[in-house]
Amino acid sequence: MLTKEEIRQLPKIDLHRHLDGDVRTETLSQLAQQEKRALPPEGLDAYFCDARKQGLVALLQKGFGLVTSLMQSEENLYTVAFEEVRNLKDDGIVYAEIRFAPQYHTGDSQYYGHSARNALDYRTIIRAVSQGLRDGEEEFGVWTNLIVCIGREADPQKGVEIVHAASGENVVAIDLACDEASYPPERHLIAYQETFNTPLKRTVHAGEFGSQQYHNMMTALTLMRANRLGHAIPLAYHPDALDWAVQYGIGIEMCPLSNRYCGFISSYEDLHLNDLLAAGVRLSINSDDPAMFGYTLTDVLYDVMQEGSLTEQDLYQTQHHAIETAFLQPEEKVAMRRICSKVLR
Ligand SMILES: [Zn+2]
Repeated sequence: MLTKEEIRQLPKIDLHRHLDGDVRTETLSQLAQQEKRALPPEGLDAYFCDARKQGLVALLQKGFGLVTSLMQSEENLYTVAFEEVRNLKDDGIVYAEIRFAPQYHTGDSQYYGHSARNALDYRTIIRAVSQGLRDGEEEFGVWTNLIVCIGREADPQKGVEIVHAASGENVVAIDLACDEASYPPERHLIAYQETFNTPLKRTVHAGEFGSQQYHNMMTALTLMRANRLGHAIPLAYHPDALDWAVQYGIGIEMCPLSNRYCGFISSYEDLHLNDLLAAGVRLSINSDDPAMFGYTLTDVLYDVMQEGSLTEQDLYQTQHHAIETAFLQPEEKVAMRRICSKVLR
């Protein structure tokens, strides 16, 4: 079996990674200092560790609440995006699609209760993050693309506005994120329809949690024409969704360690990764919120292999699927295959 260091040194791809889920404590401290903001007295590591122990809702409100409170200006959004590319390089990632929801960075996000001095519009927010990623690419030599999320509690009109702001910017796809149990995907069908005849691709967090996971996966695949699904935990149990995914080459962005940390699976066996690969599903293994959970993509891959849910050959196959389902142009995929030739044996 590969050692953790050997995995770290492999050229890796991460297709499902949230910008606000991957801000290092050093970056948070630096931003807080610049803004003269007080941070939790127990220290950031202890604060996030405690939030993780309290479950997903506490993690969203406490963990993401704190991180996004420091991402309410163009300068800070730029810095976080730039530093994200450093994080990618440090973990041996050669290509990543970074996602974030502009609605939490407008200075007046109701979800987190932020109130910043200056309100930012969606387009300004997207440009600041996009520029940070571009400059990070230059500095660290890692390739990135940007996915814009709609936080699903937003009202449908806001979803449409977010898609319009993403159009024409340096954005490859849209996504639907956050509370799947309370807000089914059809709430934002109109926003998704806006992309049908545009270059923007579509992914949806579907089948992550709640009682309607099968329904949500099917809605995303059929009505919303998703090119990829985020999580799709129970995919192996639903032949209709599975057949659709295989027939149309849908990318499945699995995030196994995130699912385990959130308590949505009890073991990796629940995901049936081998069965899905054998059925011809285009499956990738991703990190979701690495810094927030305190792990790296290398840790995720090592952990899944350690528990016997993926062989070394499977790991190479998931990297191959990641390239195939990445939101890259055909000629870019050729270049990416060359960069990743080590993991495409
Ligand atoms: Zn996610």
